[in-house]
Amino acid sequence: MQLPVQGANPFTVRRIYCVGQNYRAHALEMGSNPDRQSPFFFQKPADAIVQDGGTMPYPPRTAAFEHEVELVVALGTEASVFGYAVGLDMTRRDLQAEAKKAGRPWDMAKGFDHSAPCGMITRAAELGEMSQGAIWVRVDGEMRQSSDLSQMIWAVPDIIAELSTYVSLQPGDLIYTGTPDKVGPVQRGARLHAHVDGLTDLRVAVGT
Ligand code: MN
Repeated sequence: MQLPVQGANPFTVRRIYCVGQNYRAHALEMGSNPDRQSPFFFQKPADAIVQDGGTMPYPPRTAAFEHEVELVVALGTEASVFGYAVGLDMTRRDLQAEAKKAGRPWDMAKGFDHSAPCGMITRAAELGEMSQGAIWVRVDGEMRQSSDLSQMIWAVPDIIAELSTYVSLQPGDLIYTGTPDKVGPVQRGARLHAHVDGLTDLRVAVGT
């Protein structure tokens, strides 16, 4: 899968890593203690990407298809930051709750088809550190999640350093850096509009 890059050649996606519970208010709403958690990670398949302007079919086996707006980091050589994008970590929340309760993996809750909408990448050279700035998502025009990157528990360099202790990060890897609070459901036909200050907005729809 490829993602467009502002003013440059497309970025070929190798792997998609995601950080769990990286905003204090979201950890609390999920019933976790945000003070004692090291970041933890899960993956989505690279072909779960949905590009800006795309449509995600409403997924099977769920009655709780939820949005999580996130800053996405695109990696270059030697785990450097190539660029940033706006992403949505789409989640089958009911399957996630069942998995948590049973101590089972999250793959079917997080790593399903069309679960990783991601917008155009802006190269890091054209941006600052991305340690502050508004992050929000609207659904059918209604503000659902609205926070600031400064609320992240683990900043981008911390996430990369920690994830590097588990795996060899390679050019083409994406990292979804966690979502603020007020995650919630989307229905068939919904239109999602996601934003991070400084980046190109992401707009995707849910199939009818
Ligand atoms: Mn997430």
